[in-house]
Amino acid sequence: MTETRLCQVPTARQTWSLADAMADVLSDVLCGASARPGDVVGALGWRYREGVIGSADSTVESLLVPLLGGGFSVVVNAQRSPSPARALWLTAHEIGHSFFYVPGTPPRRIIAVTPEEERFCDEFADRLTAANRGFAAPVARVA
Ligand SMILES: [Zn+2]
Repeated sequence: MTETRLCQVPTARQTWSLADAMADVLSDVLCGASARPGDVVGALGWRYREGVIGSADSTVESLLVPLLGGGFSVVVNAQRSPSPARALWLTAHEIGHSFFYVPGTPPRRIIAVTPEEERFCDEFADRLTAANRGFAAPVARVA
């Protein structure tokens, strides 16, 4: 599952299939209201942190950072004080971006980010977090 790589943005049906497969992979850590973003990315062998992204008025909510040694760090902007549910959804969105990288040290992007990829990541996050009973639908979109 985590070996999946995308050279183009998938259809909605493919997006749901990817999210459902990822939900299966993460079933041990996607467990309702107690689900924690750090546990979710940890299950993928990645890192998670909440910290400062950009300036104090930055609108960036989260980032996927390729690590030199391989894998990723998901960073959620603590300055925007996301709720636990929002932090989990943002984490799911960033996991969606990972499909557009080839593995390596560091992972490298296959295609440039597009608005279509952002929509894919939103839909992926909607579906993945919906699989995690106890969390409501997201309240806003992220770029
Ligand atoms: Zn994004």
